[in-house]
Amino acid sequence: MVVLERQRAVGPKACAGALSRLMPADLTPPSALRFDEQVVEIAGKEHRLRLETPRFTIPRETLASYQLAKIPNGAGVEIMLGVRARMRDRHTIATDGGDEWSADSIVGADGALSIVRRSLGLPTRRSLGIYREVRTISKDYALLLDAARYGTGYLWSFPHRDRVNIGIYFDPGRLAPAVARGLLDGEIARRFPGMPVSPPKSGWVAHRYAGVEHEGIYLIGDAAGLALRATGEGISTAVVSGREIGRKLKDRRYAMPELARLLAFKKKQERLFSLLERFPGMQDTLYRLFITAKRLPGGQRFFER
Ligand SMILES: Cc1cc2nc3c(=O)[nH]c(=O)nc-3n(C[C@H](O)[C@H](O)[C@H](O)COP(=O)(O)OP(=O)(O)OC[C@H]3O[C@@H](n4cnc5c(N)ncnc54)[C@H](O)[C@@H]3O)c2cc1C
Repeated sequence: MVVLERQRAVGPKACAGALSRLMPADLTPPSALRFDEQVVEIAGKEHRLRLETPRFTIPRETLASYQLAKIPNGAGVEIMLGVRARMRDRHTIATDGGDEWSADSIVGADGALSIVRRSLGLPTRRSLGIYREVRTISKDYALLLDAARYGTGYLWSFPHRDRVNIGIYFDPGRLAPAVARGLLDGEIARRFPGMPVSPPKSGWVAHRYAGVEHEGIYLIGDAAGLALRATGEGISTAVVSGREIGRKLKDRRYAMPELARLLAFKKKQERLFSLLERFPGMQDTLYRLFITAKRLPGGQRFFER
């Protein structure tokens, strides 16, 4: 198997590096920072929620190194860095260097702006994430919700070991990026006054699912539109779908049960999310109800199933 990566390293990616319980435990590095409590601020009021399943944060480069080290020697995987791929036809990939690769199976793992997906002519839908990093230490793994300011988007503040990744996730069709950026900067000034802050970074999150199997072409992660629309979570969905497609390529009869579970959860979460979109005036009340329900015995399990 040949992996073509346009960057000079595997791993760097505009991302907040948060992992949820959807992330397979064996692919979560032991060095990840663990959180057993979530702070949820709804329209300025803080709620603290004890988590039944912890969240983690990890720099994307560290996550990639950990997962790369899991590839056994002799597995027959060749990773070529600094090689940008183009689809020439259904079975041929061309590179900017003039090389061509032909294969019976091509896997598009090329993210939210996937060229492999584009070659299939599949429609796509994306949200946007913008963030900055603050050089400080914090313990609060926080989400900020406020219908009047962010609509169905939200702000996050995720601590890493030596910094805090703080950003905003939103649908640019509903909130203009310049406004979102202003809201983010306002929140940074409020939470971390006078602290050194990195320049902003941003990226797309693709969440319109369009199937993983397309007659010899396979899509995984954001290329398949597998990120969760409500939260923008897409690391776990990329990893789970990648592993499932890997198993499928080894055994064509493999039914991909983990992908089926993921899709069922994505569908359920998107139904709840459409409720929020349909009734914007009710949004903050619904958020409070979710928090109350999540505090009940079995509540978190119900929403996370
Ligand atoms: C600002 C932001 C914050 C986020 N925070 C989180 C978070 O905290 N937790 C979470 O779970 N998700 C988060 N996400 C979503 C998550 O980053 C993505 O869903 C996830 O990275 C998707 O993984 P992927 O492997 O499908 O694509 P990617 O991680 O985008 O990987 C695609 C790879 O393909 C390479 N590539 C692309 N085109 C080509 C080409 N033509 N030729 C060769 N190589 C190519 C790219 O260089 C890249 O390495 C965030 C997204 C953004 C934008």
